[in-house]
Amino acid sequence: MTIYFASGNAHKREELAGILSPHRVLIPADRGIAFDPVEDGASFLENALIKARALHRLVGEPVIADDSGICVDALGGEPGIHSARYGSEGRNKLTDRERNLLLLDRTRGNPVRACRFVCSMVLLLSENRFFVAQETLEGELIEEMRGSGGFGYDPLVYLPGLGKTVAELAADEKNRISHRGKAGAAIARLLDLIAVSS
Ligand code: IMP
Repeated sequence: MTIYFASGNAHKREELAGILSPHRVLIPADRGIAFDPVEDGASFLENALIKARALHRLVGEPVIADDSGICVDALGGEPGIHSARYGSEGRNKLTDRERNLLLLDRTRGNPVRACRFVCSMVLLLSENRFFVAQETLEGELIEEMRGSGGFGYDPLVYLPGLGKTVAELAADEKNRISHRGKAGAAIARLLDLIAVSS
């Protein structure tokens, strides 16, 4: 089945397409739909629902939306839901690299290195009918960027069990263990059920 994903982030779409295959993932831009809802929720789940409902109102079909980010213990859980615009308050949006440097700067010398990626993913069938899967990927913030794969904060998150940062994983390896991969796998099983019954 073909399903809309409420995102403008090409990296996230690429990952979700791998996770949901053979289902086909479309983002609003693929159909020339302008999509930039105000994400003013207080949690990953609230923001995922805001995006899902906004896109559902535009396309009138079941949609998937996610909201994700990195939570750093040394920063009391920040940037969390502000991950995409971390350090950009009132200015032009920073690049991924600039955001990573800022995060390193704000945690340098702090012995508390635990962090986690969180992904809240919603499969919304209609305004008030939805399923949610929320997952995490636990890691440790390293002191310098390592690896060139993935996107965002991947070069900073070290996985002690694998001896690699998330940016050093192959795409399918990341999808098997990541916050988005695990949430997406649960949603994919629901999609299969819906595709069978419709
Ligand atoms: P969203 O599109 O509002 O969910 O923003 C998510 C932001 O969190 C991204 O722009 C990245 O900065 C960060 N993020 C979420 N998932 C990942 C990931 O898998 N790797 C690296 N950064 C991520």
